[in-house]
Amino acid sequence: MNKTARSAILQEQRTISPETADSESNWQLELANACRDPDKLLARLGLIGKVSPFRTADFPFLVPESFIRRMKIGDPNDPLLKQVLPVEDENVDVPGFLSDPVADLNSSPVSGMVHKYVNRVLLITSGSCAVNCRYCFRRHFPYSEAPRSLESWEPVFEEIWKRPEVDEVILSGGDPLTLNDRRLGVMIEKLAVIPHLQRIRIHSRLPIVLPIRVTEGLLKSLGQSRLQPIFVVHANHGNEIVEDCAEALRKLVQAGIPVLNQAVLLRGVNDSVEAQVDLCTRLVNVGAMPYYLNQLDRVRGAAHFEVSVERGREIMAGLRKKLSGYAVPRYVVDVPGCEGKTEL
Ligand SMILES: *Cc1c(COP(=O)(O)O)cnc(C)c1O
Ligand code: SF4
Repeated sequence: MNKTARSAILQEQRTISPETADSESNWQLELANACRDPDKLLARLGLIGKVSPFRTADFPFLVPESFIRRMKIGDPNDPLLKQVLPVEDENVDVPGFLSDPVADLNSSPVSGMVHKYVNRVLLITSGSCAVNCRYCFRRHFPYSEAPRSLESWEPVFEEIWKRPEVDEVILSGGDPLTLNDRRLGVMIEKLAVIPHLQRIRIHSRLPIVLPIRVTEGLLKSLGQSRLQPIFVVHANHGNEIVEDCAEALRKLVQAGIPVLNQAVLLRGVNDSVEAQVDLCTRLVNVGAMPYYLNQLDRVRGAAHFEVSVERGREIMAGLRKKLSGYAVPRYVVDVPGCEGKTEL
């Protein structure tokens, strides 16, 4: 988040009166105070001198407090730390690792919307996230960080009105839950009046990295909508599914919202049968279902995270032996130009 966006949030903080100061202002404050200095994080984890962060202006360091609390003190290989800490390897240019690996910009009929698969459209509702994951394809995207005005969404809604084959809208980003409940509420209402829409899907990492984002207000506006809500969260390691995060996922499930997880297969983070079994087990234990295990998108600066497809298939075979059938995710890759994710 840039300075303007941060001060806008702080400004909003100040205008919230004590009577209305609920958990909405809590998550906004935690987001505004998220750690932006890798040295501070390393000092907290007792890792100064043991790990040297890489300075990059390209895709800034960003991680909220709740996620930091789940990292192990003194462990330079902590799987949560590895997902967020910039390292020297990001600077290595590897052939085949590109700026727009999934070529989403080619299927965008109007700014803010990607229509790649027949029945569902994806809306880029926000350019920002609560965490910057080093392996993310978003790192080179030409997103503007500032939230768009509600009026600027009208052309997108009009486009959906014109496409009766679309029955599901996916709110994605960036992260749609960086928008506040009021803005989200208005969007959901605008979508609910489009008669051929039946479901609204929210792709968000906030229930994982900033669990207090799952507010009563959010549950209420989703619960009241005509559209069936579905959550797709993003956790990569079992250590993420503890305490406040496990509680937030349970809250969604208890509100009657299906919760699915997509993970990315990441070298040094979750590239073992044990790590995947642990992740999937913790998910199903809170009622969230493993959905996809994604092969890494080949984005520039993320080559050091890549796991071979051969190794990925081995891990999947291990999962099928050790997990209940419903707890096994589908191993997929997003191939540019293909209809849907391709199963590996
Ligand atoms: C992944 C993706 C979707 C959703 O695909 P599912 O297989 O239904 O999860 C939709 N639109 C775009 C552009 C996507 O990349
Ligand atoms: S939360 Fe998702 S979109 Fe945001 S940086 Fe992480 S992987 Fe990328």
